[in-house]
Amino acid sequence: MDPKSLPIYDVEIELLAELTKYNRVIVQAPTGSGKSTQVPQILLDRDQLGGGEVVVLQPRRLAARMLARRVSEERYGKLGDEVGYQVRFESAVSAQTRIRYVTEGILLRELLSNPSLHGISAVIFDEFHERHLFGDITLARCLLLQEDQRPDLKIVVMSATLDTDLLQSHMDPVGLVTSDGRTFPVDIQYASRKLDAQKTPIWKAAANAFSQAVEQGAEGDFLIFMPGSFEITKTVEAVKASKASSGFDVLPLHGELPINQQDAAVGYSPNRKVVVSTNVAETSVTIDGVRVVIDSGLARTSRHDTARGFSTLHIEPISKASADQRAGRAGRTAPGVCKRLWTVHEHAKRPDQETPEVLRMDLAEVILTLKASGVSDLTSFQWIEAPDPKILVRAEHFLRELGALDRESRLTSLGKRMLSFPVHPRYARMLLLADDYGCVREACLIAALTQGRSILVRKTGRQVQGQRENTLSDQNVSDFFTLIEAYKYAEDCRFDRHACEKIGVHAGGARQVSKLFKNFLRIADKENLMTRHPVPLDEHVRKCVLAGFPDQICMRRDATSFRCAVVGGRSAELVRDTCVQHAPLLVAGEIREISNSAGKASVLISMVTAVEEEWLEEMFPDDFVAHDRVIYDESSKRVVAETARLFQDLVLERKSSKDVSEDKAAELLAAEVLAGNLPLPKWDKAIDHWITRVNCLSDWQPDWQIPMITDEDRRALLEQICYGCYSRKDLKNAEVWPTVKAWLNEALQSLIDKEVPERYQLPGGRRAKITYKEGAAPELAATIQDLYDLNQTPRIAGGAVPLRISILAPNRRPVQVTEDLESFWKDRYPVVKNELRRRYHKHEWR
Ligand code: ADP
Ligand code: MG
Repeated sequence: MDPKSLPIYDVEIELLAELTKYNRVIVQAPTGSGKSTQVPQILLDRDQLGGGEVVVLQPRRLAARMLARRVSEERYGKLGDEVGYQVRFESAVSAQTRIRYVTEGILLRELLSNPSLHGISAVIFDEFHERHLFGDITLARCLLLQEDQRPDLKIVVMSATLDTDLLQSHMDPVGLVTSDGRTFPVDIQYASRKLDAQKTPIWKAAANAFSQAVEQGAEGDFLIFMPGSFEITKTVEAVKASKASSGFDVLPLHGELPINQQDAAVGYSPNRKVVVSTNVAETSVTIDGVRVVIDSGLARTSRHDTARGFSTLHIEPISKASADQRAGRAGRTAPGVCKRLWTVHEHAKRPDQETPEVLRMDLAEVILTLKASGVSDLTSFQWIEAPDPKILVRAEHFLRELGALDRESRLTSLGKRMLSFPVHPRYARMLLLADDYGCVREACLIAALTQGRSILVRKTGRQVQGQRENTLSDQNVSDFFTLIEAYKYAEDCRFDRHACEKIGVHAGGARQVSKLFKNFLRIADKENLMTRHPVPLDEHVRKCVLAGFPDQICMRRDATSFRCAVVGGRSAELVRDTCVQHAPLLVAGEIREISNSAGKASVLISMVTAVEEEWLEEMFPDDFVAHDRVIYDESSKRVVAETARLFQDLVLERKSSKDVSEDKAAELLAAEVLAGNLPLPKWDKAIDHWITRVNCLSDWQPDWQIPMITDEDRRALLEQICYGCYSRKDLKNAEVWPTVKAWLNEALQSLIDKEVPERYQLPGGRRAKITYKEGAAPELAATIQDLYDLNQTPRIAGGAVPLRISILAPNRRPVQVTEDLESFWKDRYPVVKNELRRRYHKHEWR
């Protein structure tokens, strides 16, 4: 097919016009329209680049490589000449390269050494709907650059599905070019029953769906989506084992395959094809001829648990938007079918869109890069979607611990050095320290070992366990040392599955580690670290681990259980099969949340290394705090002096003694009583009532100079009362009244008794209680009969304040509330009397 007939050329003129107008354009067109392969060529051939390059950002390495190859073929060139690519650990580019496909981290790093993007005329953000962290941030940076030093820089954002509103407002002013492309209807079929993964693994279900489709007479090629390489391998086996597969080529497609196999999956084949792929085939790579899509509905998604600060890598259901993308792959050239291996009911519960990475990933690496490029205030950075400020705080704290930022969160020279390593800052830190200690190889291997699951099989039989114990040496300071030995064993036997199984090592996992190990070594070599050195001291290797994982320092809560406190107020459980059984201080290579079959989640720490307190002192001297404080000890129910030494929030040491001064004890007990944490039984209602009377009189007769009792004074009184007390029992017996009363001298005390009396003597003989409340009138309640002979409202406080009287009927229902008794007798009483007398004729009525 001639690429020039691809649908993208229908909007070519429009695209160029918008680009001329704004230098920014959003291109939205369905997958297979020719965005990724053709738009860069349009820019080049239509003279949009001057003498510079166009850089195309791709979320996946596989896509970057394949696109570069495809486009260089279309242009009859050699890969790496006019068209090239660059991904984290490899590249094919030259001085002649004009179209360069890169993965997203590459350009962000390039911005550090080449901040004005000299030599680059245009940047294309492809597959932007995936909202990868580096893509998001690089776009924000490019937009700023364009507003400032590079008004000529062309920015193109492309995607098959885009939340264009958010993006348009972020990029405003920007041109928008959309193309509907040409697609055919796809018949979407759901599973009739929910899949029981225990009984039917997902690859079996996919193979069944394949056979069924073939029986139903489906035409064309098949595309099956699986979450990762493991499931892909299983699916390929299961499909090949089915009768329906005869005459089909069954081909895997994922990033870990050799290039010729990747090409085979995408390229032309004389037979019908079944391609089993990761989500790379969702939008990045188009496979022509697909008429049937079988979708597992799953993807491997990494997330950073922001609240607790660890990463998770789970297989998760994809969003509705992703599922629709996948289905669309069946309708490119003719009407198609999509079989979803989940039910309609399950579908309804899926999220509409994927969560952008910036909202779910560890930001440390990105933040370090941003800091290096001069962004000092992360909260004011123009995020497309800003991450939770808490995540930013945590990431900055982590980078300070690594020594990459100083106390003011500015980049340090160490931080700058760390940035030259294309790895997460924790490994950069580890490698740099390892160079000082002469253990770079071990650090590289440890870095490789922490990238995936442990290479040791967890549950082994007794025989394998015995073999393992015989083969690996016995030590109790670091699981990494065990893993390193196990790895070396696997390497020595060339990752032979059978030999590995003997001691319970995952051969595939170890092989994977070997690749990563080589990558890390290559990086170290490139940075001139010493990678050839004699066997280092254990201690040095452990210190390097500590330097790289300062956010995962743990302490055993006690000697018997496996519970640990992790810095940052977290708790977790140590895996039972660690070799580090007794060390009180640990650093975890892995903290992860897992859920058991009952759905209960627990946080487990593994790959642990014992560390010494001295090392913490040496490496993080600012993180030690000493507490010297007086506390109420719940168990002994008394005040004790406690001295504690903390590393961040881990209590390293705690001592308590009864040696507390009376002052300190009184102060603490008073505060506890005031906060309601401890009872002081003799401080009863009567005491509060007396204080209220004092305060009322002080208020009503300011001239008498009666000292108010404020909240502060209450505390002072309490401290006096508690003086000499140490325990809860002491408080129970503590006398209150003498101390409170002594607040006033004797003359004032009798003034209180007289002028704000507790009770008022009524003419009929009853002594009625007066209720006082600060800021309100004093109140008294009495029946009409009690009040006979009382013609005027009684006044207290030297006559300054009238009592507010609740006048009650014989049934004690209020008739009136008044401060003017005289008017009551005159106006209201005669009416009331007539009414009440009939009902209560036995009472006296005057
Ligand atoms: P988009 O980015 O819009 O999804 P692409 O530019 O990736 O579209 O692909 C356009 C067309 O080019 C595809 O439909 C396919 O026919 C062809 N194509 C792209 N890459 C390859 C490849 N590696 N091998 C064969 N054909 C390819
Ligand atoms: Mg594309």
